[in-house]
Amino acid sequence: MSGASPVLRVAVAAPVPEPFDYLPPSAPGAPLPGPGQRVLVPFGRGRRVGLIVALAEVASVPPERLKPVIEVLDERPLLAEADLAFLCWAADYYQHALGEALFSALPARLRRSAPCSGSAAAPGERGWRLTEAGTAVVLDDIKRAPRQAQVLTHLRALGGEAPAADLARDLGECAAVLRALARRGWVAPCRIEAGTPPPMLGAGPTLNADQQAAVDQVGGAFGSFAPFLLEGVTASGKTEVYIRLLEAAIAAGRQALVLVPEIGLTPQLERRFAARLGGTMAVLHSGLAEGERERVWRRAAAGEVDLLLGTRSAVFVPLPRLGLILVDEEHDLSLKQQEGFRYSGRDLAVRRAQQAACPVVLGSATPSLESLANAHAGRYRWLRLHRRASGAAAPSVTLIDIRAQPLEAGLSPPLMQLAAEQLAAGNQVLLFLNRRGFAPVLTCHDCGWVGECPRCDARLTLHRASGELRCHHCGLIRPAPGRCPSCGRPDLRPLGQGTERVEEILARRFPGLPLARVDRDSTRRKGELTRLLSAARRGEYRLLLGTQMLTKGHHFPGVTLVGVLDADAGLYGADYRAPERMAQLLVQVTGRAGRAERPGRVVVQTRHPEHPLLVSLLREGYPAFAEAALAERRAAGLPPFSHQALLRAEAGAADEALAFLRAAAAAGAPDAGEVVLWGPAPAPMERRAGRWRAQLLVQAPRRAALRRFLADWLPRVRQVEGAGRVRWSIDVDPQEMA
Ligand code: ADP
Ligand code: ZN
Ligand code: ZN
Repeated sequence: MSGASPVLRVAVAAPVPEPFDYLPPSAPGAPLPGPGQRVLVPFGRGRRVGLIVALAEVASVPPERLKPVIEVLDERPLLAEADLAFLCWAADYYQHALGEALFSALPARLRRSAPCSGSAAAPGERGWRLTEAGTAVVLDDIKRAPRQAQVLTHLRALGGEAPAADLARDLGECAAVLRALARRGWVAPCRIEAGTPPPMLGAGPTLNADQQAAVDQVGGAFGSFAPFLLEGVTASGKTEVYIRLLEAAIAAGRQALVLVPEIGLTPQLERRFAARLGGTMAVLHSGLAEGERERVWRRAAAGEVDLLLGTRSAVFVPLPRLGLILVDEEHDLSLKQQEGFRYSGRDLAVRRAQQAACPVVLGSATPSLESLANAHAGRYRWLRLHRRASGAAAPSVTLIDIRAQPLEAGLSPPLMQLAAEQLAAGNQVLLFLNRRGFAPVLTCHDCGWVGECPRCDARLTLHRASGELRCHHCGLIRPAPGRCPSCGRPDLRPLGQGTERVEEILARRFPGLPLARVDRDSTRRKGELTRLLSAARRGEYRLLLGTQMLTKGHHFPGVTLVGVLDADAGLYGADYRAPERMAQLLVQVTGRAGRAERPGRVVVQTRHPEHPLLVSLLREGYPAFAEAALAERRAAGLPPFSHQALLRAEAGAADEALAFLRAAAAAGAPDAGEVVLWGPAPAPMERRAGRWRAQLLVQAPRRAALRRFLADWLPRVRQVEGAGRVRWSIDVDPQEMA
């Protein structure tokens, strides 16, 4: 067979499970492309971009059916061998079509055949820097210009310069203030190259014993695979530990990867890293334009970036000198991709560290039960920060039993009273309600009609400001009726409350008090969320009311009272993970209070003050709660003490999805062994957006058994009668049963 050219195994960007074989380009003398290079190939009646994953001697189809690739798109491999191996491992672990997985992990532009922009030099961003005179200004001397003082303070905190866009994001619109400062000669415009270290690097506080121990342990593991769980309450100084470790890694000439759940919500982290770390930092998240994403990706892959900060997909970016991985808020659901190629950024980070032989640190105030179980079993080394680093006392938490209390839009008299006291004392108050809109139900008082979504098994939420009924599951919007659509009488009543309704009551109760409502509706306009949050941080709003958006990682130093309006939603949820999520949320909300010198207080309204979860959480804290929850999971044989995958299906007709899953179950049953199939059963929300949904749960006591079963079974599922008519997907390690 000498002289016969090898076959190219190409993963095509299409939902087909296996790679396809092609011949090298037919042009005489063309160099033979290799793994990691992209090619344009004939596919069906069209052409597709594909990635060469291997060279083979023998084709899997008869030679006469092999076609040559049309064009080689990359001169050199886009992915190194190790990166390709990691991606293939991930696709296999999550049982996802290789080509789709590979291309969804790459920047979108690389999925197309258009010539790539290469690594065009960054033009530099417009920014502002402190002048020498500005550095010397005594802030007390400009007390009468508080906005100017604020901008100067911020620039100093950031190391002396910052992109204009960042300043606007952190401080609100401040162009006029900057021009005024420029006229006084205290600041000057400049261009900031992406990733340029700020000129003045801050030193940071002396670490306490817990922090030092954490830094020493992880630092001692540089150069080898070692997973760590870093558990520390909010404000215990985890970020400070990250900074020291990043410093050490960069100083050792290694690249570091930091994964966070959502970047838009934590701009402080980015600025803090930039202000403290030398080296080149780049940020990667879904808000970037496609070209920018590709540029960051290429710079990281070329080793030009020392620190890559990104959301879950950053775990796939090639980093040839990778030496440290940090995952912040490792319990957060946003680290899991919930559609298409479903993967856990956190779990892949651990695998990636193993492959790169480097330490990985999973940090959280409320670690996931999975990570805690790993720490218990000795698979992860467990680092704990016991106290708040700044010395601030932990807030006190009390329950308010709201049974038989007269509630006004869900607010009890004791909570109102406490809020009034704190506001009168000049402090800030934060109220948390995880439900937007005015009211979750609109009903007719005469005939009992209830507004329901015609396409989902769900009630329509009343949004009074816009005069609409909206479905929060499929996006349906209708004008709110003035009279009952069923009996025609006018007595329609909203039941329950969302943030819009609470806002109305608060505005009436505290007239003239600046109030910020932070939820998805109030922050639709671009930049509005950042504006609200930074104004809140500066104390411009006295009363903060919001959903989950308010709880993630923000520092509101002036908040002395946090009120949780309704703690009960998570207590009796259908999903066995509901209590864990609820506990994490409560602790995160609690962390918003009393970060500064003023002590914080948290009150939680509930109708179940005796519920064991709430009691153990509030009396003994998250670690005790987690122990109890883990014991329950172990007794019930649920993850992390077993392993699951969920086969979901949806179809246009009522029984189609269930019938498909029944056939799929039958195709697996003969060799299930220690694997158990539960169901199929209708999904918790059986109808959504007009489609019928069902699911089949696969569970195994051991990971290896689950993987073996899936690898065997899924090819047969594809052959099941009706597989083409339903939309189906497999979710390995599912986090939500919905
Ligand atoms: P976390 O990331 O756990 O929420 P941070 O690292 O943000 O905690 O620390 C909370 C606050 O305490 C920050 O203002 C930080 O500057 C400060 N801090 C952290 N470590 C120390 C320390 N060792 N001594 C004094 N202050 C510290
Ligand atoms: Zn009616
Ligand atoms: Zn709907």
